[in-house]
Amino acid sequence: MSAEIRVFRCLDDNFGYLVHLPDAGVTIAVDAPDAGTIQSELDRAGWTLTHILVTHRHADHIQGIPALKAASGAEVIAARQAGEAVPDADRRVSGGERIEIGGIAFDVYDTPGHCADHISFHAPAIAALFCGDVIFRLGCGRVMESPPETMFASIRTLAALPGGTRVYGGHDYALSNARFAAAAEPGNPKVAAALAQAEADKAAGRLTAITTLDEEKATNPFLRAGEPALARAVNLEGASPEAVFTALREWKNGFR
Ligand SMILES: [Zn+2]
Repeated sequence: MSAEIRVFRCLDDNFGYLVHLPDAGVTIAVDAPDAGTIQSELDRAGWTLTHILVTHRHADHIQGIPALKAASGAEVIAARQAGEAVPDADRRVSGGERIEIGGIAFDVYDTPGHCADHISFHAPAIAALFCGDVIFRLGCGRVMESPPETMFASIRTLAALPGGTRVYGGHDYALSNARFAAAAEPGNPKVAAALAQAEADKAAGRLTAITTLDEEKATNPFLRAGEPALARAVNLEGASPEAVFTALREWKNGFR
């Protein structure tokens, strides 16, 4: 099964994603930050929207749903546990379920932390993970509705997927995340290279390229909370990865 995935910016720093499965005549939007931008991308590609996968109920991920659904009749698939907080949902799913769209399986994971009813979608056949505001390039979402340990458990669940899986997160915060990663782990040459890449991307006006779980495991401080270097960075040598994650996240919240 072939798939074409388009990546583009929506609003100030949200990513928009369209997954096109030509053999099945299916085009899936992941979240709907901005109906106008998503419709323009659809028109440019000559694709018709058939499905919208929703990771979580925050406005910058769902506000485009009504207009897109009215224009296309697309089926909206959202977390069961989000209830009416995601309006217009046609189908409700929870972690542990597998759905099929256009002949491709999407495994659903419950990933609470940033949002209590956040879910993520993994499509093994196309090695793609759509994880909303859980994992970003070199960073993670703010922990807003659960204890930090819950967010860390969600990140670990996703990090355990095959290393070659591409990570499609909800926002392009790569440059500020890279600056934080370099501060947290100055001795990691892969982090230094990632910072240089993020700076070059910013200077050129490019979106920072989608990377893989292996790349995140090598560079992203929030996936590396179990590493001694990160524990040292927050003066918690010997502490649990959960405690290190919590301290890193608090540091990042105030990092400029
Ligand atoms: Zn959010």
